[in-house]
Amino acid sequence: MDRISKLTDQNTFQTYKRYPVTLVRGDGARVWDVTGKKYLDFLSGIAVCNLGHCHPAVVAAAKQQLDRLIHVSNFFYTEPQAELAALLAENSFADKIFFCNSGAEANEAAIKLARKYKYDHTDPRCYEIITMGYSFHGRTFATLSATGQEKFHQGFEPLLPGFKHVPFDDFDALEAAVTDMTCAILLEPIQGEGGVNIPSEGYLKRVRDLCDEKDILLIFDEVQVGMGRTGKLFSYEHFGVEPDIMTLAKALAGGLPAGAMLASKKIARSFSPGTHASTFGGNPVVMAAGSAVLREMTTTGVLDNCARVGDYFYSRLNALQKRYPHIIKEIRGKGLIIGMELEIAGKPILQKCLEKGLIINCTRDVILRFLPPITIQEKEVDECLQILTDIFREL
Ligand code: PLP
Repeated sequence: MDRISKLTDQNTFQTYKRYPVTLVRGDGARVWDVTGKKYLDFLSGIAVCNLGHCHPAVVAAAKQQLDRLIHVSNFFYTEPQAELAALLAENSFADKIFFCNSGAEANEAAIKLARKYKYDHTDPRCYEIITMGYSFHGRTFATLSATGQEKFHQGFEPLLPGFKHVPFDDFDALEAAVTDMTCAILLEPIQGEGGVNIPSEGYLKRVRDLCDEKDILLIFDEVQVGMGRTGKLFSYEHFGVEPDIMTLAKALAGGLPAGAMLASKKIARSFSPGTHASTFGGNPVVMAAGSAVLREMTTTGVLDNCARVGDYFYSRLNALQKRYPHIIKEIRGKGLIIGMELEIAGKPILQKCLEKGLIINCTRDVILRFLPPITIQEKEVDECLQILTDIFREL
């Protein structure tokens, strides 16, 4: 172990199972460790560095803002916050944006807003939120309670009341779970941590119709699949369905900590002065980086690149599945979030990838997850496939 990893292990909580690798530098789809070894990064800090590491436009915007104004309280207006809010409103279904610092905080804000809206307009007893099995919404108490995976709950009960879980992509189960107390349905349009689960054709449309019919709010958690990851700016655009509330984080500011909760004007009105706040939310440096990300995604061909290279990667992985059906069960994905469900344990494969200079991830023990920067080219996909093929051949 090097000095940095020893120091880290001695002095930080052991909440993360870290690899014995200390990273010191990143550029595009590459990162380098302390020994100088180079890695192809097909994880992007878990869908954060969507434009690649240290994208020049993000670096320039943040540096320029660092020299002008780093932080003021939300008692004051700042130009970077105004600009990013306008860009998000212009490019989404939403009219109003609340800024925070992470995905959990964005979901926390969405849960509070949904309850407050129902409190204001329907009945204070109408506070129940339905979420999905295998969902992931964060680690704070409300978002942990919303998360439909028991392994994250263990040791922390009793959880916050008012959350019900139903299987993802099962419309009948969802419909049966709705009662007069239902306030909102919260779901990831494509599940990330739960293993890259894509809903079947028409599911989200039926969920939207159910919400309209029963006067229930629809909340999309786009923390992982928003910000260009699927080849559209927001994944809901693939399904022809708009939510009432949406949450963003991860890639929003190109690697700086940012979160956002977006809603229509009518719903946003329930968050009146004093009802919600965040000291760092809307920080000028982070907002400047966020605007650089949004501009890059909306004015260059980066989303088309994601869709094109994503299709290429998906079809090549499917060809690999046909060659190794005893190892690979299924390939699922949209744009550049792709899951490979294995017939065998994923961790040893992850380890071999790392040795060969490829960073990927594994969820639910058997699903390899690929989240490369959406700026990658076919030749980087080929490099990743060569490493995977070598590993499968050895197996
Ligand atoms: N929502 C989704 C869909 C996520 O994938 C994550 C993190 O992986 C979160 C929420 C929580 O985000 P954060 O870790 O920034 O709190």
